[in-house]
Amino acid sequence: MKNFEVNVELGDKKLIIFDFDGTLIDSAPDLANSINFMLQTLYNKHFEAKDIYKWIGNGAQTLVQRALEAAGEDLNEIPRALEVFLHHYQVHLCDETILFDGVKEVLSKLKSNGYKIALVTNKPQKLIEPILNKFDLQEYFALILGAESCKEKKPSPEPLLCCLKEFGLQPSEAVMIGDSKNDLLAAKRAGIDAVGVSYGYDQGEVLSSFDPICIISQVRELLPLFGLKVKVGVIGGGVAGSSTAIYLKHLGCDVTLFEKKDSLIDGPPMCHLHAGGNLYREISDAQCVQLLKESIELIRFYPNGIDFRPTIVTVPITDPDDPSSLLPRLKLLQDQYQKLIDQDSKNKVLGEPQQYYKLFSYEELEVLQQKQPVDDPQTFQQWMIPFAKEVDLNKLKYPVVIVQEFGLNLFRIAASATLLAKETHLTCKLRTTVCKIEKKADGFFVYYLENGTQRGEFFDYLVNAAGFASGIIDDMLGYYQKRFVEFKAAYVTHWNTPYKWAEVIFHGERGTPQGMGQFTPYPGNFFQLHAMTKTITLFDDGLSYTDATSAYPNISKKFIKMIEEGWNQEDVQERTQKAIKHLSRFIPSFRSAQVMPKPLYGAQQIPGEDATLRAAEGSFEGMRYARSEIVKASSVLTMADAIVKRLIALGYLRESLYRWRDFSHQLDDEEVNDIAKMFALKRGYPQEMALRNKAL
Ligand SMILES: Cc1cc2nc3c(=O)[nH]c(=O)nc-3n(C[C@H](O)[C@H](O)[C@H](O)COP(=O)(O)OP(=O)(O)OC[C@H]3O[C@@H](n4cnc5c(N)ncnc54)[C@H](O)[C@@H]3O)c2cc1C
Repeated sequence: MKNFEVNVELGDKKLIIFDFDGTLIDSAPDLANSINFMLQTLYNKHFEAKDIYKWIGNGAQTLVQRALEAAGEDLNEIPRALEVFLHHYQVHLCDETILFDGVKEVLSKLKSNGYKIALVTNKPQKLIEPILNKFDLQEYFALILGAESCKEKKPSPEPLLCCLKEFGLQPSEAVMIGDSKNDLLAAKRAGIDAVGVSYGYDQGEVLSSFDPICIISQVRELLPLFGLKVKVGVIGGGVAGSSTAIYLKHLGCDVTLFEKKDSLIDGPPMCHLHAGGNLYREISDAQCVQLLKESIELIRFYPNGIDFRPTIVTVPITDPDDPSSLLPRLKLLQDQYQKLIDQDSKNKVLGEPQQYYKLFSYEELEVLQQKQPVDDPQTFQQWMIPFAKEVDLNKLKYPVVIVQEFGLNLFRIAASATLLAKETHLTCKLRTTVCKIEKKADGFFVYYLENGTQRGEFFDYLVNAAGFASGIIDDMLGYYQKRFVEFKAAYVTHWNTPYKWAEVIFHGERGTPQGMGQFTPYPGNFFQLHAMTKTITLFDDGLSYTDATSAYPNISKKFIKMIEEGWNQEDVQERTQKAIKHLSRFIPSFRSAQVMPKPLYGAQQIPGEDATLRAAEGSFEGMRYARSEIVKASSVLTMADAIVKRLIALGYLRESLYRWRDFSHQLDDEEVNDIAKMFALKRGYPQEMALRNKAL
């Protein structure tokens, strides 16, 4: 896989020479106030601060000279004016002066990574120390040169050559960072590489014409140039946390993933990719289109985790809706799919767009009843044969739809993430529970329990991907967000059928006895069943909400006990039998299916206040804390993009990395099979459930 190592072109430098005003400190307001004081006192004149800012950048004398020129005053007055200016400025050095965002963090990281740091400024020497003291910056500089330290000032190379001499270094071993022409010219004349900063006082000079090796727009952008990676902590190794961590690691971040269980992606199940949201009649077209786009990205990220079998969508005669109401959306999704392919041909992962879906009439299905089923169905017709033979066609409305809605295999996604984490050398702390977090000025200190020992580590950025426990992490930091948690289950059965099945959806109103039935095939004649009734998949008190006191919803203890300790077998039998009955209303021969001992179940979080939300965005607290709260697995890369956007805004990542999708990883499918089978067995499921009905 292509790995975005940050640019290390400056990583072999030994000395970093910083300019002061306009590079590390924003001193313009205090300088402008003192210039106006001088002009007012001597000439009863005053300028707008923004005009004075343009004169800053070449030392105090030039600043005063420019002020007198602008005021039309005699330049012979410079010494007197300079004295009045300096007298005032000396006592008002830090009234409004501030450090540019990130300065301390950058100096501290550069120093602790062994770089020597020097300050070379044209500011009078006596003014430097008070400012450094005010901002506690003294400790970072191994050398400080002010206006009087050498015979000549910048743009002469002399102060920079002095620095090199002091440290016994060659020009190629140093770099100058500054905002003005003088900094860049001095560096050029000394034979030193220079980095221009665009946020300072360049007096309208075009910095690029003075040959800097690059120009940065905020000081943190220096970190990637020196090969210093942003440290990201991700709490929770479910599909959200693992995928985010792997993705950020690809982009060059230094990521640590904390997961309290002993393997990745072992939370609530995932079995439908939802590439188009065709299982959800109740959600908006916009959410369906978003799910389509996101699912395509997920397939490209985890191709070995997808079961490429289609889904048959039916509307039973008991349902008030008409199947024709599904058609405009299918057409919309087909068009959107074509558009995504037009944008990037690699998006063609759901087959030919013209064959995104197909409709079957009762008569066509009657014809298919006479056909011989095939072991490896290739066409929609072939996938429909078992359906035509086994389903009671009189219980359905027409047309019946078959669509390229694929399956998501939990065990294979977990195996893929495990291999990708290994391949990217992601720091995965399994069996490690985050127990306390402290917010710091530029990040978070995370305490965690690892093998019974409490340890702690600082992170520049924190991602809360703790699934239904996200509220517990929010509470540790005093952050609040409204959310739901829903406990749900799907049931595993074994059924002796000679056919290879597509997934089948029997629509029905959620929460009623006719709730939607989902018949999900796995190899080896295993079938997973959902039935959206309160006695099968849903639970009477399964949906819980946050109250005003905590970001963690009030989840019934019985569900937590089920998650942590498992189910009692009577409940498994009762609910699975009901699920078999629910589905065999339409597939009569399915009545003979056998109950398997462990359902797939868990608590799923839904952020916000809309319990029907399916395509969820993440949310943030400030710039350095993200909640990766997904409802459907397919949203993980959208969420990761939103985090990358913040990391770029903070200066930690290059802009070109936003929405980077050039995945070239190819996992060995056999290796995925082996790990997935091991996970299935270890978690109490038949190992055949780790395989898929159809590879790409
Ligand atoms: C019955 C059912 C069927 C579903 N079907 C589908 C489907 O078909 N398709 C689909 O896309 N989605 C489906 N979902 C939803 C899907 O399972 C979830 O959206 C998804 O698993 C959420 O992933 P996550 O990474 O956010 O959370 P989780 O998988 O819950 O991961 C969170 C992780 O954080 C860890 N953790 C928590 N606290 C800490 C801590 N303090 N320290 C360290 N680790 C911690 C947990 O151990 C856990 O592993 C289904 C859900 C259910 C319940």
